Amino acid sequence: VSVAAGDRFVHARGRSLPDLVWLRAGRPPTAPDAVVRPAGPGEVEAVLAACSAAGVVVVPWGGGTSVTGGVNPPAGPPVVSLDLERLSGLARLDPVSRLATFGAGTRGPALEAALAPHGLTLGHFPQSWELSTLGGWIVTRSSGQESLGFGRIDDLLAGATAVAPGGRLELPPLPGSAAGPDLRRLVLGSEGRFGVVTEATVRVAPRPAVREVEAWLLPDWGRGLAACRELVQERAPLALLRLADPVETEVALAVGLTGHAWAPAARAWLRLRGAGGGACLLLVGAAGREAAVEDALAAARSLLRRHRPARLGRGPGRRWLADRFRHPYLRDGLLDLGLATDTLETAAPWADLPRLHGAVAAALPEVPLLCHLSHPYPDGASLYFTFFFPCAAEPEATVAAWARLKRSATEALVAAGGTLSHHHGVGSLHAPWYPREVGEGGVRAMAAVARELDPAGVLNPHVLLDPADRLEEPGPPR
Ligand SMILES: Cc1cc2nc3c(=O)[nH]c(=O)nc-3n(C[C@H](O)[C@H](O)[C@H](O)COP(=O)(O)OP(=O)(O)OC[C@H]3O[C@@H](n4cnc5c(N)ncnc54)[C@H](O)[C@@H]3O)c2cc1C
Repeated sequence: VSVAAGDRFVHARGRSLPDLVWLRAGRPPTAPDAVVRPAGPGEVEAVLAACSAAGVVVVPWGGGTSVTGGVNPPAGPPVVSLDLERLSGLARLDPVSRLATFGAGTRGPALEAALAPHGLTLGHFPQSWELSTLGGWIVTRSSGQESLGFGRIDDLLAGATAVAPGGRLELPPLPGSAAGPDLRRLVLGSEGRFGVVTEATVRVAPRPAVREVEAWLLPDWGRGLAACRELVQERAPLALLRLADPVETEVALAVGLTGHAWAPAARAWLRLRGAGGGACLLLVGAAGREAAVEDALAAARSLLRRHRPARLGRGPGRRWLADRFRHPYLRDGLLDLGLATDTLETAAPWADLPRLHGAVAAALPEVPLLCHLSHPYPDGASLYFTFFFPCAAEPEATVAAWARLKRSATEALVAAGGTLSHHHGVGSLHAPWYPREVGEGGVRAMAAVARELDPAGVLNPHVLLDPADRLEEPGPPR
């Protein structure tokens, strides 16, 4: 148990834009009263029992990379941040079934390092991979960059143990079952409301010998969407597809070409290939044995030809792979320059994507807006938006400006039929819109499960089922 001021500060906020603004100002609106680091499921149970009895709120902390207010202590009651870093490491490996059991607090690099000597990988690479944890991925229903090839965490989770004040859920790793509803689905997306995941068994795969990403330019957004849909529906064996809209393409080319002596020549060549103002950058990736990767990329190439693409080769893709975990931290540098940036992510059926893209753009007319498609499925895909606006002098005013944009865009994407979140989760920031997605009956069913597993209501009461608008928390006095 730690009550050190530094420890409490570090656990005061996650990594949403308002979190960063408050942390950089040195004034997080709330902080936990203590940070507790249990060593095993038994200690988690003991902490939960003590906190339930004393009315102390428990906020599980995986990597603290939540961008939806998931780890932010709610104002009011005493709060303990339950840091799961000691529940870490490979507990068991069944190489025959390709099942690996890890402590929930295991971070991405440690998880992959434990699998590497066995020639295995989980293949789950969210951009926060270096800092986020297996337990966090499960309860927020995370999706990695190679979800097309390896699946999202929903597909990778085989079994789990979750500890709650009202009891334990022991979910064995079974390949398939018809024994009633699948209780793993109750753990996935539960965001700490239904218990603390202490251990999880995941489906692992052979470590790819080769990973290649080819870059293309498609003539416009409509052609780009059609090309991605066909690649997925015709089951090209790819690991990743990422299509930038025209504005994001311009930015990617500007950033990618900056500083290169050959930039003017490259731009002229792109224009000649028909990649004018509306062109869209497409990354097509495959992972596996070398021959399989070449076959997959060749299959993609022949499908793409229908859409008059310009091939940029593998150079941009290699650069993207090398930088892929660094891109999000550009936002810290932009904050230094007085420019705030945030992201929104959603998903919808293919037929609705153009309308959804337009609806979000219309809701944010006054700010620069970039968008890319990622995480495609046969029936639809995720759209990921990035917007920018100038910081105000005071954190309160920056957060208020952000809250106006966030409300307007969230309202637009929900009204246009998109999901409230494709992979960041609901947390506290999206919670007011959650009933719009699951209906009042859905919320009541979830609340009943929460009451059963957490009768005193101490586990993360601020997330998922609490409709309070927490976008603009009042900052503490100076
Ligand atoms: C730079 C950046 C990039 C990102 N990129 C992606 C991306 O590509 N894909 C993606 O899916 N997400 C992404 N995210 C969002 C975030 O990383 C994910 O939501 C991730 O799954 C959170 O994991 P975590 O371990 O950090 O969880 P935390 O942030 O610590 O917790 C998230 C929520 O889960 C609860 N919780 C955590 N661990 C447990 C547990 N063991 N049992 C019960 N409850 C628990 C917490 O209380 C909180 O409510 C990104 C975030 C950042 C900052």
